[in-house]
Amino acid sequence: MSTGTLYIVSAPSGAGKTSLVRELIQRTPGLGVSVSHTTRSMRPGETDGLNYHFVALSAFERMVEVGEFFEHAWVFDRYYGTSRVEIEKRMALGEDVILEIDWQGARQVRAQRPDAVSIFILPPSRTALHERLAGRGQDDTETIARRMRDAVSEMSHFEEYDYLVVNDDFNAAVGQLEALIGAERLRTKRVQAENPGLIEGLLSAQPPLR
Ligand code: GDP
Ligand code: ADP
Ligand code: 5GP
Repeated sequence: MSTGTLYIVSAPSGAGKTSLVRELIQRTPGLGVSVSHTTRSMRPGETDGLNYHFVALSAFERMVEVGEFFEHAWVFDRYYGTSRVEIEKRMALGEDVILEIDWQGARQVRAQRPDAVSIFILPPSRTALHERLAGRGQDDTETIARRMRDAVSEMSHFEEYDYLVVNDDFNAAVGQLEALIGAERLRTKRVQAENPGLIEGLLSAQPPLR
């Protein structure tokens, strides 16, 4: 059975979660990110199957009906969801898996997997959040205004999360995420499961002869 940990990462749009997760994964062996399905349109530079599985509304609704989603939610007037197949595929590789999802999805995941570890990313200020959304250069003014308004309702859920990371200095934030993953990998139950026989052998061993 896989001993992998499921991580939930949420943040208001533009706080830097996608950039942070990308860098974290490059630095961390055995850590992967789940590719969500969405009905939003592709941004310049995005690739189908890599950033998201981009699907039509009808296809998404069919997947919901037949129960293919582990969690799904309606965010910014679009559907987003994590398919069961995606999680099972990643877990089967023995990886720790990150889900980059909103607070509604996070609640659904916790209900099914109480052992999931959740992290909320905050921007250092509203001004910085606005600058990042605009600086990303991928959304029009109206979309940015909408995301700024929705940021407050997303951030209001921060207390439902196990960890809070403020993404001010990018490298410092990645370092904090690395530390967090490193500590989770040293949890007693996990080290015990990954070293079968070690503790049993240590505890049952005869004392060394004098
Ligand atoms: P970005 O966060 O600004 O890069 O914008 P996206 O369009 O990539 O994501 C929009 C929102 O959808 C964010 O709040 C995500 O957390 C959320 N989201 C993305 N994928 C999923 C998913 O698979 N499930 C759920 N529930 N939410 C998702
Ligand atoms: P999200 O996935 O949360 O919407 P992104 O990862 O797309 O956010 O980041 C939004 C923008 O902010 C990107 O242009 C990214 O390069 C920039 N960014 C991310 N983290 C920082 C940071 N610590 N300082 C300055 N800019 C950042
Ligand atoms: P964007 O469209 O800018 O890539 O993402 C917008 C929001 O959708 C982000 O806040 C992101 O967390 C959320 N999101 C992306 N994928 C999923 C998903 O699979 N499930 C849920 N619940 N939210 C998602």
